Amino acid sequence: MRRYSTDAVRRILLPALLLIALSVWLWTSAVLPGPSPVPPATSAFSPSQIHRAQDYRNLGYAITLAALAAQLLVAWLLALWARPLAARMPAILAAAAGAFAISAAALPFDFWAHRRAVDVGLDLQSNVGWARDALLACAVQAVAVAVVYGLGRIAYRLFGPAGVAVAAWVAVAVFTLVQPVLIDPLFMSTRPLPAAVAAQAAALEHTMGVHLASIRVADASSRTTGENAEVDGLGPTVRVVVDDTALHAPPAQLRALLAHELGHVQRMHTLKGVLWFGVIGVPAILLVLAAASRLCRGRLLEASSVPVILACALTASIVLLPVENLISRRIEAEADWAGLRATHDPAGMAALQRRLAITNLSNPAPPRWIVWALFDHPPVMDRIAVARGYSSPSSSSAP
Ligand SMILES: [Zn+2]
Repeated sequence: MRRYSTDAVRRILLPALLLIALSVWLWTSAVLPGPSPVPPATSAFSPSQIHRAQDYRNLGYAITLAALAAQLLVAWLLALWARPLAARMPAILAAAAGAFAISAAALPFDFWAHRRAVDVGLDLQSNVGWARDALLACAVQAVAVAVVYGLGRIAYRLFGPAGVAVAAWVAVAVFTLVQPVLIDPLFMSTRPLPAAVAAQAAALEHTMGVHLASIRVADASSRTTGENAEVDGLGPTVRVVVDDTALHAPPAQLRALLAHELGHVQRMHTLKGVLWFGVIGVPAILLVLAAASRLCRGRLLEASSVPVILACALTASIVLLPVENLISRRIEAEADWAGLRATHDPAGMAALQRRLAITNLSNPAPPRWIVWALFDHPPVMDRIAVARGYSSPSSSSAP
């Protein structure tokens, strides 16, 4: 008995220590500026700009939280009452149907958010176009959950709960790898950068020591007036996608935007995202399986247990949302800093952040608890503060 428990402790302790070491490395490897005092929003925005953004965003936060609550409610109603129905289906189909129903529970709130975005001129999609994309996203999510569940079942049979957690980690890595090739084309078409911007990007890539497969332009202007850019993919598939709405930015601002995105590539953020999933997702999956197993009296592999597993998984993902956002804000701040150190143009970055906040109606003075719960990027005044701080002698002399 004593020998058994020592072995069990050793089996848990070593992976736990490895994950803790990995999380410490991921957290401390971020290269960030020292803290800068955050100036008041009125130092960058007019009272009417602040008022308009807050008017739009404050109800927006409530809609986002209501959508999450609706999904949680539907997930637990299914866990309580839909188990006999799930028992009559193949387990994978039950997983797909359950995931679709849970995603769809957010649709009324998403539609409300869409109509509000149309009213302020941010969203250009018709209701039909919006519905097509929303249903497609639900379907993709349902298929993804069914695939993950199917692989999880095999891993559970072969290796138990730890096998499921490791298989999920591998699945996240594979998904990140194929996203630019298989998933993105479902939602957007892309084209190469215009020649002048491509030359600017190539010069930045050279300065930052970054070599990536491609920088593409997405056809966002048919859907939105908002400006965005993103990095996705892993290793050989890493790429930057810039919305066509951002291309007519003044040159210094477009350069700051490209430098931020290349900062993600330079600091290997998509790879670190996959590693962060291991640190947070692996223990979370073990807890989810332990909770679901207890609620289903150990019969985890039966189709009737699927709604319970989905409800436990959704609960964990919502509880972990503030943690994910904390990590995401740190990653975004690091990309800002990497970009700034490449362009040495704090004015360009501050102007970019200010203009993006105005075009995207970002709240310049959000409540702290909303930042903590929902913001995956630092608030705009934090980012402007970093740019303004860069011109001070102590910061600008940094290597
Ligand atoms: Zn970013």
